[in-house]
Amino acid sequence: MSVDTAAAARRTHDALARARARLVARDAETVRDQVTLAEIPSPTGEEGERGAWVARRFAALGLRDVRVDAAGNVIGRRDGESRDDRAPRVAVCAHLDTVFPRDTPLRVRHDGRRLVGPGIGDNGRGLAAMLALAEVLDGDHVRTRHAIEFVATTGEEGLGDLRGAKRYFADAPAVRAAVALDGAGDERIVHRAVGSRRFRATFAGPGGHSWAAFGVPNAVHAAARAAAAIAALPLDDAPRVTVSVGRIGGGICVNAIPADGWLEVDLRSTFTRMLDRYEQSIRRAVHAAALEENATRAEGTPPLTMRVEVIGDRPGGELAADAPLVAGALAMTRLVGRAPELGSASTDANVPLGLGVPAIAIGAGGRGGEAHTPGEWFENAEGAVGLGRALGIVAYAAELTSAR
Ligand SMILES: [Zn+2]
Repeated sequence: MSVDTAAAARRTHDALARARARLVARDAETVRDQVTLAEIPSPTGEEGERGAWVARRFAALGLRDVRVDAAGNVIGRRDGESRDDRAPRVAVCAHLDTVFPRDTPLRVRHDGRRLVGPGIGDNGRGLAAMLALAEVLDGDHVRTRHAIEFVATTGEEGLGDLRGAKRYFADAPAVRAAVALDGAGDERIVHRAVGSRRFRATFAGPGGHSWAAFGVPNAVHAAARAAAAIAALPLDDAPRVTVSVGRIGGGICVNAIPADGWLEVDLRSTFTRMLDRYEQSIRRAVHAAALEENATRAEGTPPLTMRVEVIGDRPGGELAADAPLVAGALAMTRLVGRAPELGSASTDANVPLGLGVPAIAIGAGGRGGEAHTPGEWFENAEGAVGLGRALGIVAYAAELTSAR
């Protein structure tokens, strides 16, 4: 880290002492918000009710230009020195959606010092922290050079394919840095976005009786050939690439030659060019499998056809560990007395990183576990320390001009 970064981070941290005290003073309110948010159902694709609650809070906090965009993102802005709508800004994101289906019981219960409930940490904590930051970064007691846009996003989980983040960053070219608040924690800084691309390959043929029609091409055999070829692909280690056939199927009955066969493939890397390269390998393997299976068919029988669809696409990307945003986040973590840790994950930050916009994802304070299960828990273990860290990181990125 450069001396400049360290000194600027320390100046920002010191100036924010009273703002951090305000976060401590509203700590119980932050946890109340977190419970309220977790108890509003918000499965991926059905984030409207939780989003409406956040929009009301954004308006009550005096954010400007509060709106819901075409993807269902809820957006509100705290102006910096300029009130120009196109002025450069820092985006603070927290995803609205959860992995839990609509009929999941969401009541949060106490278990000793823990709060237990689906989505209490992921992302009840991130959303509640975003509201706490929006209150403290009020444009009066705490001012920044650049505007700060708060974005509650849709479609971060499951098959959401980062729908909300993709829409927001496509519409907001003036974002100079982005910080995603996701779950609990106060040490990890995700600066590497694991990108993924998912495919469904389908083979279709005539099918028929397994004895009487034997000799027609077999769509499940073709799917199996494709899976075997994909499993045998030589993979790069640096940068790391992973390929996995997650599902395979087809046919209607053990004694019928299947007319359909399919497989689903998950490809991951932090580098988009690796995703591009291995996508070509996967497409070639599927194509070759159809040719091989067709080469076995009896004369006069119709050939199999094949098709590859992309069913998921999350860009990858990486921000250098010495980039100002990462260096600032490392410094801010140490300044609140925690030991920073760099990591990789798939979050809303994938989208800006894929576009070349500096971005990180961080925890929103406290401790938690068992995310994506009904036993998910959160413990408000010095949660305000993590909030103070997030505040410092955002204020640093937006260039703090004054604080009292
Ligand atoms: Zn999450």
